[in-house]
Amino acid sequence: MDLGITGKAALVTAASRGLGRAVALRLSQEGARVAICSRNAETIKAAREQIHAQTGNEVIAYVCDVTDGDQVIDLCNRAEVELGSLDILVTNAGGPPAGMAAEFGPDDYRAGIELNLLSTISLICATLPKMRKNNWGRIIAITSVAARQPIPHLAISNTARAGVLGYLKSLSSQVAAEGITVNAVCPGYTKTERITELAAMFAESGKGTVEDFYRNIEVDVPMHRMGTPEEFAAAVGFLASEAAAYITGVALPIDGGWIKSLY
Ligand code: NAD
Repeated sequence: MDLGITGKAALVTAASRGLGRAVALRLSQEGARVAICSRNAETIKAAREQIHAQTGNEVIAYVCDVTDGDQVIDLCNRAEVELGSLDILVTNAGGPPAGMAAEFGPDDYRAGIELNLLSTISLICATLPKMRKNNWGRIIAITSVAARQPIPHLAISNTARAGVLGYLKSLSSQVAAEGITVNAVCPGYTKTERITELAAMFAESGKGTVEDFYRNIEVDVPMHRMGTPEEFAAAVGFLASEAAAYITGVALPIDGGWIKSLY
């Protein structure tokens, strides 16, 4: 299927590894010119080289901490200048610390909201005027199934990511007539480096083996397996495509059926 995004300019944040890198690769495979960022110069450069080696298409790497509003503005301006436009924005950041709701105080929630909610808003605010110039845009925010079905030991994530959905839904109707779609993607358990690290930490803590870690998760997934970053990226690629022009304001779970609610 031709996604119709050959030559489009895409910015994918927090893309040195995991879901962000998989999405950047997918968009590059589809012919988009891609800008990526993370906080570390070496790792983002390595990701750039990997993606470029696989696709041969233009990939630019920037250093940016998405929680820093000034860095975000600079990132979006430089990406627009160097790519010539900014058509597709995929927002992503790391996840906040795990823990139950009453274990955290206001400063912990403030940090989580800066990481996952305000970074999304900053990136979109800096990019939207660039999309409006062309009457075309795709905004896709990487959130979590926690935004749709709170996970008890991920209280900060539940809180910040629900706010992301509120913001995106509000924005989606405001810009819908301008050719700009605004959607969220909600990954369920997806086997990235982060999950591999968590499995190793679980085994080191003596709570069980690496296999136990995966089994505990997979028992709750109707497909009885984790997703792959490639499966996740394929769904994001579709939402970025011409074929998805009439889809806006949705929060799409990519979770093997994990979310239990009707919608
Ligand atoms: P990961 O830890 O493998 O990768 C995170 C990426 O974000 C890295 O490239 C890191 O350098 C970058 N990053 C972190 N903080 C940043 C910042 N402030 N500024 C710029 N870059 C930053 O994580 P992942 O598994 O790819 O997950 C990506 C997002 O999706 C996270 O928010 C995570 O909580 C969420 N999520 C993941 C899963 C899963 O199963 N993998 C499930 C639900 C939600």
